[in-house]
Amino acid sequence: MNTNAASATDSILVACPQCHSVVRTPSDRVGEHPKCPKCKAQLLDGHVVALDAASFVTHTSKGSLPVLVDFWAAWCGPCKMMAPVLDQTAQRRATKLQIGKVNTDEQQELAGRFNIRSIPTLILFQGGRELARHSGAVDASTLSRWLDGVLPR
Ligand code: ZN
Repeated sequence: MNTNAASATDSILVACPQCHSVVRTPSDRVGEHPKCPKCKAQLLDGHVVALDAASFVTHTSKGSLPVLVDFWAAWCGPCKMMAPVLDQTAQRRATKLQIGKVNTDEQQELAGRFNIRSIPTLILFQGGRELARHSGAVDASTLSRWLDGVLPR
């Protein structure tokens, strides 16, 4: 799979946060604000992306970057506290990690599929696989330490 890791023509696949197209982007350009050729949105814009059942699959299985998904609900106080932490983390790690959120009231099928019993629950995905999960609200530094421990190097 990763035989050309050192090559300049290396590229990654990024799911567009706006139209959810999957865009091939040269790896050495990810820091240069690449845009989606279809809808012109900035691809790695450092914002949390709201995901539904279809865009969830695109982002967590078709893109190359790991995706952290926050399973939340509007009535959940700790989820509200997590929101700025996730915004900050999305911005800080924009070229390395995508962050999505799934409203568990609107997307009950997804919540069921991943057996979400309490919210917020954070699940880290890459290549369609669950790498790690964390239940309960965390502050920015705890989240950062947790991510550094579970993100692929
Ligand atoms: Zn797009």
